[in-house]
Amino acid sequence: MNSTKDRDLALLFTPNIVLSSSSILEDYQLNKKFNPPKDVTISLPPEIKQKYNQINIQNITIKEIEIYLLEFIHLLESNFSKDYLTCLYNNINELSINKRHLFNYTGYYDVGNNEIFLSHKNIIDAIFHELFHMSSSIYDKEKGIQYSGFEQFYEDDGYDIGEGLDEGYTELLTHRYFGQKYDIGLSYQFEVATVYKLENIIGQEKMSELYFHANLSGLIAYLEQYIARDEIINFIVNLDFICSKESQLHLIKNKKMQIAINEINVFLIKIFVKKLNKKLEDGLINKEKFDIEYRTFLTMFDSRVKIGNQFYKSLPEFNLKDNNDNLKR
Ligand SMILES: [Zn+2]
Repeated sequence: MNSTKDRDLALLFTPNIVLSSSSILEDYQLNKKFNPPKDVTISLPPEIKQKYNQINIQNITIKEIEIYLLEFIHLLESNFSKDYLTCLYNNINELSINKRHLFNYTGYYDVGNNEIFLSHKNIIDAIFHELFHMSSSIYDKEKGIQYSGFEQFYEDDGYDIGEGLDEGYTELLTHRYFGQKYDIGLSYQFEVATVYKLENIIGQEKMSELYFHANLSGLIAYLEQYIARDEIINFIVNLDFICSKESQLHLIKNKKMQIAINEINVFLIKIFVKKLNKKLEDGLINKEKFDIEYRTFLTMFDSRVKIGNQFYKSLPEFNLKDNNDNLKR
């Protein structure tokens, strides 16, 4: 097939699904309890200085996890630039790790108190994930803002944004570096699949830089090169909605969930096409490469996704893998 034609179709294809997604949204708008806030607060994290030059984990009280801590530190030091490890160095020397009965979770990191809680069982399932949270967290005590990877929590009013992105990327890193060795079960599956595609657009280097500097604001600024801020916020808030609901295993099939999934996937395709188009304009790729990259990206979408115990369609009106003819309209 002629590649010029394909590229044009790719550009046409994206607005089409955006339109159909908007009309679905209107149908359910009245029932949609969860609306993206009009005035969204997102702060730039404070500039932080490295407090310690050496890591001292003598104070860690649970001896059985010392070996995992050392392995984690070694892995970060060997895989990431030192500049990315400021949160790790600042937090780890004063980190507390304690066991506690946790309802529904195997672990939890409390940013304000720099404390990891682990349930009495499944330590391996949680420890690396929680250590990634610790290594990407900054607590601005004066302003009462907790920055953790891509999440921001405002203590005053309990406003929270970016949890879905943050949990997805934390779990993605956990699996990338420790998943196979320790056979860790995958949590936050949809969030992981979503940030994996986002990372494919942004690049691993940039994505990890933003994560380890707890810089949600920087992530938004990066995406604003290609797409309007409102759409980025809507994407983040949609993923938060899914993240907040998926642990409710009794969840019945939910129209709002389907809308959120549609909007998230449409957003990812739209931004990918915009970035490809810019590369084409700048002469960085030719039309043939445009076509290959676009089609490769589409293969990353499964035809359906599972949230809680329910299956949902991956995109509105058609699925990409099983129905390729739709792409050639
Ligand atoms: Zn987590």
